[in-house]
Amino acid sequence: MDFISTRGKIQKCGFIDAFLMGLADDGGLIIPEHIPVVPQDQLKAWEQLSYQELMFEIFSYYTNGEIPDEDLKALIHDSYATFRSPDVTPIHTINESLHVLELFHGPTFAFKDVALQFIGNLYSYVSKKQNKIINILGATSGDTGAAAIQGVRGKEGIQICILHPHNKVSKVQELQMTTVHDDNVLNLSVEGNFDDCQRVIKELFADIEFKNKYHLRAINSINFVRILAQTVYYFYAYFQVAKKQSIDAINFSVPTGNFGNIFSGYLAKQMGLPIGKLILATNENNILERFVKEGIYMPGDFLSTYSPSMDIQIASNFERYLYYLNQKDAGKVTELMNEFQQNGKLVIAEADMPQVRSDFDAHGVKGAECLQIIEKYNKESGYLLDPHTACGVAAYEACSDKNEVCVVFATAHPAKFNEALELIPIEQQFPKEIEQLFNQPQYQTVLDYSKEEIVKQLEAFYKV
Ligand SMILES: *Cc1c(COP(=O)(O)O)cnc(C)c1O
Repeated sequence: MDFISTRGKIQKCGFIDAFLMGLADDGGLIIPEHIPVVPQDQLKAWEQLSYQELMFEIFSYYTNGEIPDEDLKALIHDSYATFRSPDVTPIHTINESLHVLELFHGPTFAFKDVALQFIGNLYSYVSKKQNKIINILGATSGDTGAAAIQGVRGKEGIQICILHPHNKVSKVQELQMTTVHDDNVLNLSVEGNFDDCQRVIKELFADIEFKNKYHLRAINSINFVRILAQTVYYFYAYFQVAKKQSIDAINFSVPTGNFGNIFSGYLAKQMGLPIGKLILATNENNILERFVKEGIYMPGDFLSTYSPSMDIQIASNFERYLYYLNQKDAGKVTELMNEFQQNGKLVIAEADMPQVRSDFDAHGVKGAECLQIIEKYNKESGYLLDPHTACGVAAYEACSDKNEVCVVFATAHPAKFNEALELIPIEQQFPKEIEQLFNQPQYQTVLDYSKEEIVKQLEAFYKV
């Protein structure tokens, strides 16, 4: 398998190079040259596999043998040994039409751990094998940063710097990032919002000279390996539900911000998994809902909501979908992205809208709906949703028929977002791992939103 860019201007490369490149050098996003289709009988055989075995099979379609089988198996094994559930991502069944896939059993209690535990180990593996310096740079709305730091803290040959918006992440998210005291971790707390942080990161990655000088590596979902790691649980969820009840196609409702998690679902569907609807669940920052409903991709005003990890206006993975929507025409994608850069908006051709609407459905949660859903499911099913998962359940209610089967992704544990639950109010017991965070010292540098300041910090921190 070779990897190419959505803008068509990089040389084809292999799995490890695609992993290391992160954002493609031509400013586009990395994608596989062809999406492999898994034969039906193969899918059937996969039903019996453990999470780790399934991941190995899926990755084997993409890795070109660049990682020897035994090494890949060990990497996968180590990555999920840190999870609190033997199933890695267990299913919680509410009823025959609604299943919740719990993606929060990793070290930082959010779904980002699933990909980033593996990515941390893969960076460490590549660093050792190729004797390469790895300087990781990422921006976070809270969960990515915590998961990435947990994925690489204390690992030799790797430095990690994470930007987060100052006072715009939840208390637990902040503590998970800033109570880590390893020398290879730097937290920059930026006066601004997530999109500001992300913009600086994108600029630095697009600055090829800077990127190469510091061997910059990405951990956000612009990295294709993260997308691929997230396809695994779509397959796994399908098989777990198929063991319990007879199903044909299955819908997925996905709390969405950067379009990363749901793009993994799009990929799984192209690989042959019988997915019915892919439902985009958003909050008031609903650029993606408006895209599906109106065909216009245009950021609105930034709003702080109960689900801060989805408070994102520019979905950095959207370009991947744009590529497939435009029949893999890299020239057209470049044109559209330039148009977006210049005008701050993209209008999808009317002729493409039936395709968009058959690929996705969407629902944006507004106002009190999020808290009402949490309260309702707590009362009626005795199951506590976090505010992001609640958006997913609200979107299930809005978009999935009761005679269909839907899996909603629980992208975080409710203890991570107690601020919202206190408003209902619901009192919850914190897991001991989270409880322990509250009495520890914090390590972070607070600074103004200034690219210059940020670069200065990075130059002092990174190894060359
Ligand atoms: C990151 C995150 C999301 C959004 O995921 P994307 O891949 O950016 O769409 C949703 N919920 C939680 C809890 C998250 O941490």
